[in-house]
Amino acid sequence: MDHTKINLVVRLQHLDNQIESIESLQRGLPEEIEALEEDIAFTSRQIESRAKVANEQQTMLKKLTETVDNSREKIKGFKEKQTLARNNKEYDALSKQIEYEEKEIAQAEIKLQDIAHKEEKTKELQDQGRQLIAENRYDEISENMIPDDVLSQQLKDLQVQVEQKKEELESIVVETSAEVSSLKKQISEQRAVVEKDAKRLLSKYDHLKNGNVQNALVKLHRQACSGCNTRVPTNRHTIIVQGGFYLCESCGRIVVHERLFEEAADMS
Ligand SMILES: [Zn+2]
Repeated sequence: MDHTKINLVVRLQHLDNQIESIESLQRGLPEEIEALEEDIAFTSRQIESRAKVANEQQTMLKKLTETVDNSREKIKGFKEKQTLARNNKEYDALSKQIEYEEKEIAQAEIKLQDIAHKEEKTKELQDQGRQLIAENRYDEISENMIPDDVLSQQLKDLQVQVEQKKEELESIVVETSAEVSSLKKQISEQRAVVEKDAKRLLSKYDHLKNGNVQNALVKLHRQACSGCNTRVPTNRHTIIVQGGFYLCESCGRIVVHERLFEEAADMS
């Protein structure tokens, strides 16, 4: 049995493990950044939709106030004309116009009350939210109870956090980039060698990796596969000791003697 083939793949696993351990330094950071960015987008959307509602209310408020002022001005004019009316017909016609403007005012005032009521309701909900926050009763707070200022502060805090995480990740990437690119180069060279001399083992190795098994090749540990802890049959131990390999019947990993890993590490 030609044992040098397996050594080539052990070397490949050794290099892959090194990249893996460098990447584990940034473990969690990319995911944390992504989660923070989702929170930022969510908070921003809340703030924008509140601003939109407030804007629409202000526009409506302005328009209705103008309507009321306008009608009052008109009524004033009609009343002045009534004092100069020459007959009942003229007087009644002016009364009808006054009545019309009074209806306009009444309608506008209902709508103004409606807006005031909505604003009051919003304020009440936010006051309630502020109280619940003060009492740490977060699970009772609904989205529209969060006060505007708390929401803005939340957005600022999230933005600061995401910047910190990004800087942290960036500095790790910068610190390790030389090592990572050197390892990537070594891996691609090693793969070329394995491809040439131990093609079937490489495809086995890649098949395991594609199935999301990071450690496709593992050590024999306490007479078991260290990938899944299943015992390796005794009659296979000699092969492993001699520098051969065993395919774990349980998880399919390639099991070798730990000496091979030491040898692979010594090559660097
Ligand atoms: Zn196993």
